[in-house]
Amino acid sequence: MRPVLPLAPVNEDAALLEAVERWVERSLAPAVREFDHADRYPAAIVEEMKQMGLFGATVSQEYGGLGLSAATYAEIVMRISSVWMAVTGIFNSHLMLALAIEKFGTPAQKARWLPRLASGEVRGGLALTEPDAGTDLQGIRMSARREGGDYVINGTKTWISNGIEGSCFALLVKTDPQAEPRHRGMSLFIAPKGPGFSVGRKLEKLGYKSIDSAELVFQDYRLPADHLIGEAEGQGFYQATGGLLLGRINVAARGVGVAEGALRLATAYAQQRKTFGKPICEHQAIQLKLAEMATRARAARLLTLDAAQAFDRGSRCDMEAGMAKYFATEAALENATESLRIHGAYGYSKEYDIERLYRDAPLLCIGEGTNEMQRIIISRQWIKRHPA
Ligand SMILES: Cc1cc2nc3c(=O)[nH]c(=O)nc-3n(C[C@H](O)[C@H](O)[C@H](O)COP(=O)(O)OP(=O)(O)OC[C@H]3O[C@@H](n4cnc5c(N)ncnc54)[C@H](O)[C@@H]3O)c2cc1C
Repeated sequence: MRPVLPLAPVNEDAALLEAVERWVERSLAPAVREFDHADRYPAAIVEEMKQMGLFGATVSQEYGGLGLSAATYAEIVMRISSVWMAVTGIFNSHLMLALAIEKFGTPAQKARWLPRLASGEVRGGLALTEPDAGTDLQGIRMSARREGGDYVINGTKTWISNGIEGSCFALLVKTDPQAEPRHRGMSLFIAPKGPGFSVGRKLEKLGYKSIDSAELVFQDYRLPADHLIGEAEGQGFYQATGGLLLGRINVAARGVGVAEGALRLATAYAQQRKTFGKPICEHQAIQLKLAEMATRARAARLLTLDAAQAFDRGSRCDMEAGMAKYFATEAALENATESLRIHGAYGYSKEYDIERLYRDAPLLCIGEGTNEMQRIIISRQWIKRHPA
């Protein structure tokens, strides 16, 4: 395997971003098309991500992470996603698991799990969604029953990123299915793979290839009580959605990456392809498209960095993160579509990269809270902040 410049000892954010830039060009760009078309897990690239410290990007340095700000982390995600969005999912949802433990775990849970998560030795994600409950998370059915010092868990999760390759998940369950309001009966567990925890099936997808999305099945899966995050029942909904704010900023950053990647591909193609004796970028209809795409990409970047900086300051930023997620992911979808059209027939060819961005972009409008829900969150916050 090629040696990779470790990110961990680099203090300056600018130097760190340059190291990522070099890695993207050297390792990701040449590999992406082959892995995406084969829908193959990029094991060697995951090893390189481990060496760079990406699995501990937002984990505090005292637990072996890089302790990056949300703003720097967002910049890293943007750069990688402009070439290969799917690989960011391998560490994004993993970092949500780490965040839940760091924010809400007991000192013993942090000491036990965070160093191994930060190094990438243990990798995983967030298991919230069920076949009958996605947006309405409080409608989950998975239950955990207390038996002595253990919890016994039964149910099914679906659409779980890293479900096959990962080994440990933040698992949202009902510890009191009768509780009202429903969120008071929800708890979040650290759930490593073991007896009673199996992978149901790998889900086939339109895009977002190379990263595994899976159904996870739990049958009399037994967890010691010290795996309950914070060792407090009834906090799970709050703990799981508390991490979603950073998750939303991450997804916005992915959207910026895809929007910028689509723009870059269109810009290059429009200067090479000629019709009627001149490059197509000299036709006004193409110029209008490029102008709109460039403006969308820039606005998406600024909104995302604004939300990340508010998060880093500790300010309330649910509206800002919602705006960034909504706008940047719609920008990704629109730019991918427009870029594909600028490529003409070649945009429809598997030999050009734009078809991948076109297949990957719609996921961003669905994951980490659909864009319909983002608009509801934005609107509620807007009204609250502007009382009549
Ligand atoms: C590739 C991929 C990876 C994923 N990874 C993970 C993961 O790692 N972990 C995990 O837990 N989940 C994951 N998910 C699941 C994802 O978070 C859910 O798909 C998402 O929350 C939406 O839930 P749903 O699909 O059940 O849609 P539904 O909740 O059934 O919604 C269907 C439609 O109705 C709309 N809608 C629902 N309620 C309202 C309302 N009140 N007002 C207005 N509109 C509404 C939605 O916006 C949507 O358009 C992943 C999904 C995909 C596709």
